[in-house]
Amino acid sequence: MEMRMTQVHEVIDLAPHMRRIVLMGEELSSFPTDMESAHVKVIVPRPGQEKPELAPHSGMKKYMRSYTIRHFDKNWHLLTLDFVVNRHEGLCTNWAKNAKVGDFLGIAGPGPVKHKDFNADWHLLLGDITAFPAIAATLERLPQTARGAIYIHVPSAEDKQELTLPDNMNLHWLINDDNSQNILLECLKNAEVLEGKPAVFIAAEGAHVQAMLGYLKSAPYYDKELTYTSGYWNAARKPRKS
Ligand SMILES: Cc1cc2nc3c(=O)[nH]c(=O)nc-3n(C[C@H](O)[C@H](O)[C@H](O)COP(=O)(O)OP(=O)(O)OC[C@H]3O[C@@H](n4cnc5c(N)ncnc54)[C@H](O)[C@@H]3O)c2cc1C
Repeated sequence: MEMRMTQVHEVIDLAPHMRRIVLMGEELSSFPTDMESAHVKVIVPRPGQEKPELAPHSGMKKYMRSYTIRHFDKNWHLLTLDFVVNRHEGLCTNWAKNAKVGDFLGIAGPGPVKHKDFNADWHLLLGDITAFPAIAATLERLPQTARGAIYIHVPSAEDKQELTLPDNMNLHWLINDDNSQNILLECLKNAEVLEGKPAVFIAAEGAHVQAMLGYLKSAPYYDKELTYTSGYWNAARKPRKS
């Protein structure tokens, strides 16, 4: 996986629990375009260091996490990532919370685009706030004729953000500060089923996603090839020590 060194160009608070970090750097000149909604691995500096170590080494994983490409500007070498903040204590969320213009961040990747078929018969997108950047970027890539539904779970009404979406994609916001309830599962069970096969995108807390996948497998419209599910974080995980 190619590693690139970047620096913070801009910090923007989008919502109480979402901070945008725009990264820049000459090494982004070779970063691929059209990868919005795919993820990169970010590599934060070790404690007491200014720059992250980008040469592969044992223990590197400790300093890496996955974040979604919200936007990439090839002309200006600007990569936009949106970080959930003020929800938990963790290496990356803390890095984002303290980020200042000029701070260094390593980038590895990108990985593949998540949504399985932008031209599917219909689309079903469900995610919590960590998946908001992926859902927002996916919606921007859908054709204007796309049909289906989107369910986004955010902790507060102030976390609702503007989305650009096709007219026939119905957007549902779920506002609940309690991460322990799998409210997306209930939405999935009650979602309107359209004709044909949907491309499904589901990303949220790991155990919740597992439960949703369990339900999905029994749904008549389920097609493995058209389904992306991923645990974007795990509630059961103990904070990793740096
Ligand atoms: C493909 C992919 C794309 C992703 N894209 C994004 C993105 O664009 N923006 C984004 O913010 N996140 C995104 N995530 C999720 C992000 O990688 C995790 O939330 C990650 O654990 C955050 O790292 P951390 O260092 O802050 O916390 P960690 O050190 O990993 O975890 C510390 C503690 O915090 C808990 N925790 C971790 N994340 C959360 C959370 N969101 N809410 C509550 N508790 C949490 C853990 O259970 C653990 O106990 C993505 C994940 C994947 C797999």
